[in-house]
Amino acid sequence: MQIYKVGGAVRDRLLGLPVSDVDWLVVGATVEQMQALGYRPVGADFPVFIHPKTGEEYALARTERKSGRGYGGFTFHASPDVTLEEDLIRRDLTINAMAEDLQGNLYDPYNGQSDLEQRILRHLSPAFAEDPLRVLRVARFAARYAALGFTVAAQTLELMRQITESGELQALTAERSWKEIERALMEDQPQVFIEVLLACGALKELLPELDSLFATPGERGQTTLAVLAHAAAHDQPLHVRWACLTHDLGAAIKAVNQRFKAPRECQELATLVGEWQHHYQQAAALDASTLLDILQKFDIYRRPQRLEDFMAVCEMIAHGHSLHDCSQSAYLRGAAAAAKAVEVKDLVQQGLTGQALGEAVKAQRLSALEAYTQR
Ligand code: ATP
Ligand code: MG
Repeated sequence: MQIYKVGGAVRDRLLGLPVSDVDWLVVGATVEQMQALGYRPVGADFPVFIHPKTGEEYALARTERKSGRGYGGFTFHASPDVTLEEDLIRRDLTINAMAEDLQGNLYDPYNGQSDLEQRILRHLSPAFAEDPLRVLRVARFAARYAALGFTVAAQTLELMRQITESGELQALTAERSWKEIERALMEDQPQVFIEVLLACGALKELLPELDSLFATPGERGQTTLAVLAHAAAHDQPLHVRWACLTHDLGAAIKAVNQRFKAPRECQELATLVGEWQHHYQQAAALDASTLLDILQKFDIYRRPQRLEDFMAVCEMIAHGHSLHDCSQSAYLRGAAAAAKAVEVKDLVQQGLTGQALGEAVKAQRLSALEAYTQR
């Protein structure tokens, strides 16, 4: 059997980038041979194994055929007679279809290295159209390598448009789409992911609510991209970036959250931003009882980080609108501190319990906030 390093590890080494996870390809071996060598199968009916010591993935060379809609609709053929070239041609992009043997020799039957040098993301064959997830993958790679000057080949973008028009994107599961979205959002230039999806029409299928912002006057779509870019430039975590992306979707935020089954933290923050971002802009003008409502709603007493995350999103939104006054954050932080300064245990010591205690705490917090707003 021959063992090759494939995919991202080869590509990123040639680009001079750090390689985190290595995918291996095994040519000329059977399932039984792999098991005899101690490799553990990842699933009963998939020819991929885990190395007993390193934990890295080793896949048997295989060919694939499309047999139905979506990703479930694939049959594959793994056997010791599948060659390296046959395995590589089922891959999505030329730059992802190179292999390296254990001696460090490069195998590049589909000119990946030339596209790497020319900074082009190019599909490998018409079979690209068989898996609609590749539309999202290409957009994600475009976001990841934008800083290096990579762009999507015109014919590849055209194929992405055709896949989109065929309606196949609707066959993607929420889980597969979200995984790509999440990874794309965490890239250095996540706005490029959205731009590529917009350019091939896929944004209209995946996130029509966001797509329509690009059709309305007032540059709302471009502003959202600027907000997202700022979040990435400030190294914000996933949930902040997600809330930045969805901040201008209004009442549709809930539906978008649910469509992708976004993680709870992402959903929560996006919802809070949708509801309260306008209050943030006018923070200094809010009366004490509205401030108390907001602080209560954010549950600052038990979850102080939520208000911080919300303010981070609001600051990114302000930046995206070229407003650089973020004094609202300091003001809200001061209000939170004033409300938190009320000592519940003092009231408990006075013998208050239950509803009476709750009301007394609330009244004291309100008067603390009244004092704060009248400073
Ligand atoms: P990353 O650095 O994100 O891991 P990668 O290229 O290694 O990038 P993986 O998802 O780990 O991406 O996949 C490994 C390889 O498998 C890819 O380089 C590509 O050759 C192939 N591949 C993965 N998913 C697909 C797909 N949906 N269609 C075609 N080829 C794919
Ligand atoms: Mg990989």
